Amino acid sequence: MRLIVFTDLDGSLLDHNSYSYDAAKPALDLLRNRDVPLILASSKTAAEIAPLRAELGFVHCPAIVENGAGLLPAHMSLNASSGEVSEYQRIRAALKQLPSGLQGLFVGFGDWSDREIATQTGLDLKKVILASKRFYSEPGLWRGDDGQRQEFETWLEKKGIKARQGGRYYTLSFGATKADQMRNIIDDLGWRDRPVLTIALGDAPNDIEMLEAADRAVIIKNPHGPTLPALSGEEAYPDHIIRTQKSGPQGWNEAIQKLFGQIYSNDAHRQTQNPKSQGD
Ligand SMILES: [Mg+2]
Repeated sequence: MRLIVFTDLDGSLLDHNSYSYDAAKPALDLLRNRDVPLILASSKTAAEIAPLRAELGFVHCPAIVENGAGLLPAHMSLNASSGEVSEYQRIRAALKQLPSGLQGLFVGFGDWSDREIATQTGLDLKKVILASKRFYSEPGLWRGDDGQRQEFETWLEKKGIKARQGGRYYTLSFGATKADQMRNIIDDLGWRDRPVLTIALGDAPNDIEMLEAADRAVIIKNPHGPTLPALSGEEAYPDHIIRTQKSGPQGWNEAIQKLFGQIYSNDAHRQTQNPKSQGD
């Protein structure tokens, strides 16, 4: 049985405030030692994720960027920009065409100066430049009320654009999700025909599809946002879904250690009981 781990970054592997993953280091070591691919899946850009992926030691794994709107292949540092009009540019152009009643209610990275993005995100200016290299999606904040938000989403939908609330941002894209990319990645690794156990970790509504698509889901406690509603299958298969008591990398670390403990002890147990089924 091959394992593969998909993880959200902000609020999950990375601390919501400090962006540190220090508390998850023991679990990260476990993944590296077991040669389990770690797929970073975030609203971050390829330019932001590539250095983090290298630092974590998972350059050999593809990553899901801009909330599932794009993929960063293994060993590459940045998605090639073809010189064509990007999905990002199409989203920004659509925002300019909003009916006047909806203008200005969504404020995104494209509306902010580098300094304003730095204030919003808590990133330093060097990192802001990487966060702004967007090809697929526009993160921002909603300034209107819920009724206006509904109108905004209906209007965007006619242009093929979907709006999704993440742990921190309200993000616009042409709709591919982190879950859509999971199957692509398993195919990419050449694992399509092998037994694969997928684990996903996330903390926000934009992680729900990824969590529901995985064989084991870890909902990281998010003290900065709403508690996620019960996932499909959560009542029927409570063992397949873990809700952590701790937030961010602390919760991440505990959940991975717990899951790996269960999975590998079951594996060892099966093999001692039925040695012929090795490698099933
Ligand atoms: Mg998150």
